Amino acid sequence: MCVALLIFATWSHAADDTGAMREIGAGVYSFTIGEGNHSMFVVGADNVAVFEPFHSGHAQKLLAAIRSVTDKPVSHAFISHNHWDHSSGGQVFTEAGARTVMHELAAAWVEANPGRDSAPPDATWSGSRKDIDMGDFSVEMRYLGINHGLGLTVFTIPERKAAFIADLVTPNRVMFSVVPDFNIGEWERSLGELLNLDFDIAVCSHNERPGDEALNGCTKTHAEEERQFIRDLRNAIIAEFAKGTRFMAIPKAVRLPQYEHWVGYDEWLEMNTYRLMTDLFMGPFPWIPDAQ
Ligand SMILES: [Zn+2]
Repeated sequence: MCVALLIFATWSHAADDTGAMREIGAGVYSFTIGEGNHSMFVVGADNVAVFEPFHSGHAQKLLAAIRSVTDKPVSHAFISHNHWDHSSGGQVFTEAGARTVMHELAAAWVEANPGRDSAPPDATWSGSRKDIDMGDFSVEMRYLGINHGLGLTVFTIPERKAAFIADLVTPNRVMFSVVPDFNIGEWERSLGELLNLDFDIAVCSHNERPGDEALNGCTKTHAEEERQFIRDLRNAIIAEFAKGTRFMAIPKAVRLPQYEHWVGYDEWLEMNTYRLMTDLFMGPFPWIPDAQ
C-alpha cells in the first residue's frame, strides 16, 4: 500500500462531511460523500480528469478533495448519462475552469428536461467512440447502445488500467427497484462488451460492497456477477412460466437464495421480477432505431 493510500484510507474514516476518497490505482481516486454516489478523478502530469459530478453539493466536495491532492487544473468533467441523479452539478466544474462533456443524446435530453441543478454541457460528442488526449493519459469514451438512459458512456483510461462505469454495474445489489429506463437485453450485451475492455479497476457509480470496501471501487468480477444475476432471474421466471404459475403469483414465487446477502434483495427482488416478466411479455424497452 502506498503512502498516499494510507493517508487517504485514514482520512476516509474521518467522521466529517468532507467526503471520503481512496487512491485505487496510480493517480486514480474514488470519492464519495456517503450518499451512495461514487465519483472518480485521475491526476495526470498536467491536469486532472473528473468523472461524474452527480450534483452541486457533491461536486463542491469532490473539487475540494481534488485540491487536497493536487493544484493541477481540472481540464474535463465527464458526465455518464442524462439522468438527473448523475448529470447535475456540472456547473461547479465549469466555474472551476473545466469543460463538462456529455454524449449528444444525453445533452439533448438534459436540454429538453432540465433538472433543478442541471447545466448544459460545455462539449458534446456523438457516435459510439471518441478519445480525449489528456497528455500522459487518455480518456476513451464508448457509447455501447441504449442499455440505460440516453448516451450512457463507459470511460476507460488505458494508461492506468482504470474505468468509470455508471449504473451498468452495481456491486452487491440486486437491480434498482423497478429497473427504470434499462433495456435489459442491451444491458446484458453491453456488460459483455465491457468485460472485453482494457481495465483492472473501476469506479462504479453506485456500489454496495460492505463497510468501506465500496471506496475500493469495482472490478470485472462485479460486472460478471451483474450479468449472472440478470440471467439467473430470467431463468427463474421462465421456470415459473413452465410450471404454469399464475403471472401475478410469479414475483412472490421467485426466490434466488444465492443473492440473499445482496442489498435490496428483500425490498426489490419482486420489483425486479415484475420488470423482467414485463420485458419477457412485451418485448424489450425502451428502444429507438440507430440510437447514436
Ligand atoms: Zn441512470
